[in-house]
Amino acid sequence: MSEFLPASRVTRIKASASVAAAARVRELKAEGVQIIDLTVGEPDFDTPDHIKAAAIEAINRGETKYTSVTGTPELQAAILGKIERDTSHSYGANQLTIGGGAKQVLYVALMASLNAGDEVIVPAPYWVSYPDMVLANDGTPVIVETTEEEGFKLTPWALAKAITPKTKWLILNAPSNPTGAVYSREELQAIGAVLEENPHVFILTDEIYDEVYFGQGRVTSLVTAAPALKDRILLVNGVSKAYAMTGWRLGYGVGPAPLIAAMNKLQSQTSSCPSSISQAAAVAALNGDQSFVRDSVEVYRKRRDAAVEGLNAINGLSVSPAEGAFYAYVNCAGVIGKTAPDGRVIANDQDFTLYLLDAARVAVIQGSAYGLGPYFRISFATSLETINAGVDSIRDAVNALN
Ligand code: PMP
Repeated sequence: MSEFLPASRVTRIKASASVAAAARVRELKAEGVQIIDLTVGEPDFDTPDHIKAAAIEAINRGETKYTSVTGTPELQAAILGKIERDTSHSYGANQLTIGGGAKQVLYVALMASLNAGDEVIVPAPYWVSYPDMVLANDGTPVIVETTEEEGFKLTPWALAKAITPKTKWLILNAPSNPTGAVYSREELQAIGAVLEENPHVFILTDEIYDEVYFGQGRVTSLVTAAPALKDRILLVNGVSKAYAMTGWRLGYGVGPAPLIAAMNKLQSQTSSCPSSISQAAAVAALNGDQSFVRDSVEVYRKRRDAAVEGLNAINGLSVSPAEGAFYAYVNCAGVIGKTAPDGRVIANDQDFTLYLLDAARVAVIQGSAYGLGPYFRISFATSLETINAGVDSIRDAVNALN
């Protein structure tokens, strides 16, 4: 039998680090090992009942067939309504694309736009999937490191330096996974000014955590802060995080009609459309009662505060409170170089997270997976008890280092 050889687009990428971490935790749990799991990348709440009911009603009404590539008219209206409420910009149905999660929409955007050698600017720390998605679609990720002092945010200067004639996209993600960073309107305007001088650059704004925000009012979108860029912005969002609907797989994007047409053409040849049942559920999520969103943000806020307070009390670790999303990006420079009781030296954040898994039975994800060390990411999309138990175990493990 001849050996199967995967395509080069597969061999040049790696599997998602967070998906891999989740798989490792599941494996250990299956072996009977008690793990305090702080890797979770999805809300721990159940999908609200009125959303589930809408899906069940859709099934009973027989809405179980293909829809248009861009979804049912009800879903289109619900998405375009949300975008207009949030950004004060209206988009037409020819400026809308939908897919199996924001992740798939992002992938199709790159697939529809990149030619070999095109560059995509990705500020680090980044969501693990961006560089690999770029590589899989023949592009070149250009990683621009941010600093903790600058709140892990891309500065206009760093952006200007990174842009070349080959730059196709800038990817901006706020609230950020893994840091929770959110850009102010002024910061977005300053970035927008650089982009206005570089009309060949398109901007992908990943706003999947827009509803998980701990500040006043709403997160500002780049299209609101810099409306002159509207024809170059693809705004991506979905229902996964705001409505605890990660398994329903429904995401969307709005942007310039020619890009959207290219994306929808690809979607017509790949997915045809996302699940009709998930579409009905997403309509209920976007148009229905929003109290779940408000209530869950308050729960996340309490957990964030507990995690930040607990971690900052540990010698060698430090973290600032995230402004949004449900993660803390913890600086662990203070433990690098130390020696564990079993003699191993903690040389980097990867060693530290392995040590935490072995010694403290706490699962977190190393900063190197997000392109900036020495840090690790913890998720607070888990119970306060789990967070407190995790922090206690991390403290004991850190205190055992020499
Ligand atoms: N963007 C970011 C920054 C994310 O963290 C995630 C989920 N981990 C996604 C996109 C994908 O979300 P979805 O479930 O809509 O595919």
